[in-house]
Amino acid sequence: MSKLLFYNTRTSRKEPFEPIEAGKVGIYSCGPTVYAPQHLGNLRPYLFADLLRRTLEEEGYEVTHVINVTDVGHLAGDSDDGDDKMEVAAAKAGKTALEIAAMYTEQWLRDRRQLNIRDPDVLCRATEHIAEQIALAKALEDNGFTYTISDGVYFDVSRFPRYSEFAGLDLAAQADHGRIDEVSEKRNPADFAIWKFAAEGIDRQQEWDSPWGVGFPGWHLECSAMSTKYLGQHFDIHTGGIDHVRVHHTNEIAQTECATEIHPWVNFWMHNEFIDFQGEKMAKSTGNVALLEDLVENGIEPLAYRYFLLSAHYRQQQTYTPEVVQAAATGYRRLLGLAAEVRDAGEGHEGGKGGGEAEGAAQSAYRERFRDAMRDDLNAPKALAVAWEVARNRDDLSAADRRDLLLAFDRFLGLDLVVADPAGDVFESDPRIDALLADRQQARANKDWAEADRIRDLIGEEGIEIIDTPEGPRWRRK
Ligand code: AMP
Ligand code: ZN
Repeated sequence: MSKLLFYNTRTSRKEPFEPIEAGKVGIYSCGPTVYAPQHLGNLRPYLFADLLRRTLEEEGYEVTHVINVTDVGHLAGDSDDGDDKMEVAAAKAGKTALEIAAMYTEQWLRDRRQLNIRDPDVLCRATEHIAEQIALAKALEDNGFTYTISDGVYFDVSRFPRYSEFAGLDLAAQADHGRIDEVSEKRNPADFAIWKFAAEGIDRQQEWDSPWGVGFPGWHLECSAMSTKYLGQHFDIHTGGIDHVRVHHTNEIAQTECATEIHPWVNFWMHNEFIDFQGEKMAKSTGNVALLEDLVENGIEPLAYRYFLLSAHYRQQQTYTPEVVQAAATGYRRLLGLAAEVRDAGEGHEGGKGGGEAEGAAQSAYRERFRDAMRDDLNAPKALAVAWEVARNRDDLSAADRRDLLLAFDRFLGLDLVVADPAGDVFESDPRIDALLADRQQARANKDWAEADRIRDLIGEEGIEIIDTPEGPRWRRK
């Protein structure tokens, strides 16, 4: 029986993870659309997939991780019409679509690496797999799952009775209300394009020959074609953001299961929740975005953002504000400061995997608690709390024990614990001291110098020094 429990969107519950082939796991993650920079929200699914991969590897599995890059088409949102965003971005920048794609793919890879997210084993681009997509579309057509209308070849969802199952869709309601983006000739509102025809008189950079004439693939097709190419017709885990459940993943399942007649095509479907910003989902389409480089410009190191993401469970929505990320950076630097204290402690059991020496009871208990948290649907905030306890526990753990444990935990967390120096000054946060500091500021504002000095002395008696920074006074223990 597996020790790993993962929440499976397909069954709506946490389930023990068992691989299809003993000792091996195949993961496919929906990758970026590269017509604009990937923002802080976009980075969350990759951090989550990285955590998944690291956890599986720590359990001894050999993982093959495949991620795609959507460098073609991707019309407005999930719909099948509207402007093609790759083409629009290219025209605006006076570059080719491929240049735009290369530029934003680079940015995405750089951001990932700065967050200590491991590179995938296979990085596959939609434009390099047109033949595979055409082959899949052809198989669907040959088996009667498609029909052709004026602007393309469409998948007929009524031919797949399980269509609404995965996302619990109410197709009747969709049919009643229609959809804003509805292409009028479609048989059912949920039908989706698998191949779009190049429109007369519109000059496109990205189009290919096909059995249906010149055109380009529908967005959903690439993930079905590439995942099965690299992981086989039945594989273990598919990941993506929660927004993909209702349309993109539902459509991937429909076309793949109809083409292969294998059900379920993917055993585990795992989805991360959103990063919100300014009251809504951070999204390229609405423009309410912040980038990793914006954080860096403001003095926040990238791994502080990783720490911020790890401080919530991947299935919990998180709200981004500069202040909460600043607070996460303070916490992160403080943890690094504690970890750096034990850097030179005698090496115990290399990397924490238990060398010859027997491990103390306190040490094993922490190791178990940390692993249990990660095994329970990747509960990173709980695991991080264990790392904090270890970093602070000078009573039951030797410096060498703490070092060993923090190094072992960091194989999951990827925060460069023990090895990195905390950046800049390490300030602390505690509601009581913060309130005293605020009172002192108020006294100074009132020109009540005696009161301001009294509070400073009071804080000083606790071994705390106050440092004036451009953002106002901060404090740390001497
Ligand atoms: P895109 O480039 O828009 O296709 O998005 C890439 C990945 O980021 C997909 O898995 C999306 O589901 C995910 N995503 C987009 N916006 C957010 C957000 N605000 N928070 C978390 N994940 C997101
Ligand atoms: Zn996808």
